[in-house]
Amino acid sequence: MPGRRKQPAGKRGAEPAERPPEGGKRRREEGWMARQVAELRAAERAQPFNEKRLRFLSESRKVKQGSQGVLYWMCRDQRVQDNWALIYAQRLARTEKLPLHVCFCLSPRFLEATVRQMGFMLNGLKEVEKECSTLEIQFHLLLGAAGEVLPGFVKDRRMGAVVTDFFPLRLPLQWAEDVKKGLPSDVPFIQVDAHNVVPCWVASDKQEYSARTIRGKITKLLPEFLTEFPLVEKHPRCAPVLAKPVDWDKAWSSLEVDRSVGEVEWARPGSTAAMATLESFVDQRLQDFAAHRNNPNREALSQLSPWLHSGQVSAQRVVLQVKRNGPRGPSVDAFVEEAVVRRELADNFCYYNKDYDCVDGAYEWAQKTLRDHAKDPRPHLYSRKQLEEAKTGDRLWNAAQIQLVKEGKTHGFLRMYWAKKILEWMPSPEEALSTALYLNDRYSLDGNDPNGYVGCMWSICGIHDQGWQERPVFGKIRYMNYAGCKRKFDVPAFERRYCSVKL
Ligand SMILES: Cc1cc2nc3c(=O)[nH]c(=O)nc-3n(C[C@H](O)[C@H](O)[C@H](O)COP(=O)(O)OP(=O)(O)OC[C@H]3O[C@@H](n4cnc5c(N)ncnc54)[C@H](O)[C@@H]3O)c2cc1C
Repeated sequence: MPGRRKQPAGKRGAEPAERPPEGGKRRREEGWMARQVAELRAAERAQPFNEKRLRFLSESRKVKQGSQGVLYWMCRDQRVQDNWALIYAQRLARTEKLPLHVCFCLSPRFLEATVRQMGFMLNGLKEVEKECSTLEIQFHLLLGAAGEVLPGFVKDRRMGAVVTDFFPLRLPLQWAEDVKKGLPSDVPFIQVDAHNVVPCWVASDKQEYSARTIRGKITKLLPEFLTEFPLVEKHPRCAPVLAKPVDWDKAWSSLEVDRSVGEVEWARPGSTAAMATLESFVDQRLQDFAAHRNNPNREALSQLSPWLHSGQVSAQRVVLQVKRNGPRGPSVDAFVEEAVVRRELADNFCYYNKDYDCVDGAYEWAQKTLRDHAKDPRPHLYSRKQLEEAKTGDRLWNAAQIQLVKEGKTHGFLRMYWAKKILEWMPSPEEALSTALYLNDRYSLDGNDPNGYVGCMWSICGIHDQGWQERPVFGKIRYMNYAGCKRKFDVPAFERRYCSVKL
């Protein structure tokens, strides 16, 4: 059913239970946002599902008759509520009067992820399991790559349809391809973009050149797609065979990832913690977002990227809440630019550019300028190990690297400087790009994400940027230096915070 064209929910509909104070100064009772969101979801039970959010990956389109359930294969969007893929799967199951199942396929490795990111994910999934059990939805954790374990599960359990979400990186796209090959031909396989506000394939059917070219396309579609979410409800049909409780210890032991990179304390995994972080952002940091988001010494950013990356919170929910409760002034628009336009541009790039993680994926002008300057003498050359251990002559860079290793994050502004310096200090742009991606994806809690590929490609290969005045090593790629950082924020203060921390 095509969606009704509506006003974005942030601009209409249910008034928030508690309106924020002007300027966000007065503190509201903790938990106000979760209560507000629960009321909104319940009030929107009849919200239609916009079928432009889905596409069939199979020839078959009708739920297999005589089957025993509908399955949502959860991959990127690891949450129960505010998840269009699960909302769709539940509606399908209700229409067909079938039980509803959710499964997650735990592959022993995922790209560069270590136990830091995998632990965050598994602890988030524990919350998913609990929430599913309160809603009569069967949650299954399958150990192994989806292509190997999912088709057999579908056959054994006689599932009549499989719904999944959308993750435009090569490996998860391959998983979806493998599952498609293994599924019985009469079981429909449906993909829902539950991560983007405007589904990636609706926003654009090609690689967009820059934020400038995609912004208008997305903005035009927001009235249709930036709608409130209906509640995922207690499922009316109970499964004849219940899912076994997950053996989380076994799941942990099945991981074949580096366990030397510790988990971090500042980000608690799960959708509940994500909502609390969103609440604190709206109450305490959002008002400073426009003016101070490029200052690593200020708390002005949302800090939401770990939860957004693992789908423990929906970007659409975040944007709805920010619009609904945010202060007057430029911060709300500035935030929407990052959380919608820039984030969805990253998915667009990775989906439409098969070389999203190598220099060959850059524009021709950028590849040429990098080639022209490949042999320029570098002011310093550092090995990957020296970089990893924050042993460079640049204290600001070292401070950013120490923050990355210790806290699993780097401030958004410093991330650009950090990656550009790697270009300056490595023998070739190819090595610079692979080193930046390795460090980012190994240590950052939000790593292994389209945003990271695009962030590194922007910094080193000029993706979504333009050519600048030519200079050594960088060619026409935008340059950043220490003096420029000093003009923007108190660099020594940031260095003092991290440079004394031992790695
Ligand atoms: C070299 C480099 C590497 C990066 N690696 C990652 C990564 O691995 N994972 C990741 O999620 N982001 C990455 N980014 C993008 C951006 O820096 C982070 O999303 C942001 O710093 C996360 O902090 P926040 O949630 O407080 O952001 P906020 O400023 O509060 O923004 C809210 C959300 O908007 C999105 N967003 C913000 N800035 C960007 C951007 N420039 N491009 C795309 N989306 C954006 C993110 O989902 C973010 O969580 C990288 C950027 C660079 C330059």
